[in-house]
Amino acid sequence: MCQFCHQHGEGQKWYLKAEHYSQELLNDLERRQYIRDFFQNYGNKKGAKFEQDFQKGLRSPAWLRKLLYHFQEKRFRRDHFGQVVPLEDLAQVLNLASSIVRVPCICRKINKGRTDAEYCFGLGLDAEKMLDLQDTFLETFGRGPDDGPFDRLSKEEALALHRGFEKQGLIHTIWTFKTPFIGGLCNCDRADCLAMLSYRYNFHSFFRGEYVAEVNDDACIGCRECHSLCQFGAIGFSVMDQKTFIDPLRCYGCGICRAACEMDAIHLAPRNEHPLAANLW
Ligand code: SF4
Ligand code: SF4
Repeated sequence: MCQFCHQHGEGQKWYLKAEHYSQELLNDLERRQYIRDFFQNYGNKKGAKFEQDFQKGLRSPAWLRKLLYHFQEKRFRRDHFGQVVPLEDLAQVLNLASSIVRVPCICRKINKGRTDAEYCFGLGLDAEKMLDLQDTFLETFGRGPDDGPFDRLSKEEALALHRGFEKQGLIHTIWTFKTPFIGGLCNCDRADCLAMLSYRYNFHSFFRGEYVAEVNDDACIGCRECHSLCQFGAIGFSVMDQKTFIDPLRCYGCGICRAACEMDAIHLAPRNEHPLAANLW
């Protein structure tokens, strides 16, 4: 169990607790202001700036970088932190949300200038009740007033879209806006996503998933179709056995590799029962 499960989940998966999607939490004015500021502030930034900041950090003495990361990560955990979630848990998350709206991805806006990359979803950000947030989105993503940024989806529609994202190799992540409120669901890749940028620089802005992937040797035919889907470099190949293997120390438990396997040879096992990965978050 990750730190949030202990703090906010009473020992269960914290993101499967209905109160973390509640309108009550969202009605908190400080939280709403935080969300508004978040999109306004980040919407005007450029991706290169984040990369430069990380590179500057690399030039600092190790002790200083460690100290900075420590305090920044603490702030992220309080305000805006994520976790990798596999599709089956994501389906349960969609059942808990009072509304699901599809919104443009802020990372792809920052990194690629795209305002049409709709890989993100607001949970509980009800289109009618959140007019103030809609205005913020309109400003950030520069769409016309007749073309609102919130497309409301049913749970089935949202789940079908996420199945498609899996085929593209995008990992599902959920995000807090002032923890423990969960308001965002994103579909990330290495090329565009700021969370994945932070991962490359060893800065933790999200937890690993609650699972670790394992390969069933009897079912694996060594086709290697799954290899290109792993964004964490966790999949290897044994030339001797002509089988694929997964490094539990690198695996983030996203489950995306399963989408490529026609032999159904990969499954997710609970992280907290894994002898090597139980305490890796
Ligand atoms: S090996 Fe782990 S991290 Fe890589 S795609 Fe599979 S589940 Fe995700
Ligand atoms: S896709 Fe499946 S069968 Fe092919 S190498 Fe990966 S685990 Fe083995």
